[in-house]
Amino acid sequence: MSSLSATTSSTFDSTKYIDIGANLLDTKFLGEYNGSTKHPSDIDTVLSRSLAGYPKSDGSLNYNAVCERIIITSGTFEECKASIEFCKEINAKTGLQSTSTTAGFHPTRSAEYIDSIDLLNFIKDNIEYLTAFGELGLDYDRLQFADKEAQHLSLNKQLNVIKQLKEEFGIRKPLFIHNRNCGDDLYDILKTFKESNSGDLSGVVHSFDDSIELATKYLNLGLYIGLNGCSFRTEDNLSVIKEIPLERILLETDSPWCDLRQTHAGFKYVQTKFESVKEKKWKEGCYVKNRMEPSLIGQVAECLAGVKGEEVEVVRRVCGENTMNLFFS
Ligand SMILES: [Zn+2]
Repeated sequence: MSSLSATTSSTFDSTKYIDIGANLLDTKFLGEYNGSTKHPSDIDTVLSRSLAGYPKSDGSLNYNAVCERIIITSGTFEECKASIEFCKEINAKTGLQSTSTTAGFHPTRSAEYIDSIDLLNFIKDNIEYLTAFGELGLDYDRLQFADKEAQHLSLNKQLNVIKQLKEEFGIRKPLFIHNRNCGDDLYDILKTFKESNSGDLSGVVHSFDDSIELATKYLNLGLYIGLNGCSFRTEDNLSVIKEIPLERILLETDSPWCDLRQTHAGFKYVQTKFESVKEKKWKEGCYVKNRMEPSLIGQVAECLAGVKGEEVEVVRRVCGENTMNLFFS
C-alpha cells in the first residue's frame, strides 16, 4: 500500500510510527535554547528525518523517515493557532495528512485561559486540523506557573466547552491529558466529567510516570496511557509499565523534552543510538544532545519492547493500531 493511501484512509503503515505528542514549535528547533541562539533553525531536517514524504531543504528525498503521522501538541490558544499554520504548511509539502494538532490549555498555562477567549468557536472553525482537545490536566510539580485553583478552573472550563461542543454541535474528539503528581485529583474530575457526559470519555493520559493503581483507574475509565522517555526513568516506572496492557499504550516523544538518557532504567533496552552533539557544537544534519525529536521514537518503542519481552515490530504495530483506534478512526 502506498503511503498516500495509507494516510488518507483509516489504515496505517505498520512499518512506521505515529508520534502522538511532539512540541515542534518549541524554539529549540529554531536553534534557541533558554533565550540564546546556538544554531540556525533545523526544523526542516528534523521533519525530514522524522516524517515520510517530507523533502529535505534541497528538495531531495527524506531519509530515515520513521513516522507516518505526528500530532503536534498545543498548550495555549496562540500555540494552537501557530500549530495549525505549521500543519497546513507541512501537509501541503508532503501532500499527506501527516500532521495535525490539539487545542487546549496546558495546566501550567492555566492563567492564560481568560474569559475573552472563545475556545468553542475557535475549535468549531478549525476542527479539520484538530485531532484532540488538550493538552489539559493538572500539574502539581509546577505550581509556580499556575496554582491549584487556577489549574482546576481552567480544566473545568475546558471540559464544559468540550461538553457543549458535543451537545450543541455534535463535535467529539479524544482528550490529550497531562497528569503530573496530582494524586487522584485529575482522575476524580475526569470521572465526574464522564458521568455528566452520558458516559462519554475518550483520550490518552500522556507522559505517564505514576503508579499502577492510578494507571488502572485511568484504564478503567476507558483511557489510554501514553509513554515517552520520561516514563522509563526508574525501575519502579518499568514495573508499572510491565503491568499496563500493550493494547492500551500509545507511543510519543514529547519532543524536544523527555529524551531517553543513560541514567534512565529503561536505557538498557535502547538498541538504536545516534551520534549527538551539544547545541553549541551543532552542525548540519546532526542530532542535538538531550533534544528529543520524532525520529527517535523508535527508542521509546525499544524500551517498551524490552520491558514487555516483545519484538519491537509487535510494539510498533499494536501501539500504531491503538493510536488509529483512538485518534484516526
Ligand atoms: Zn504534558
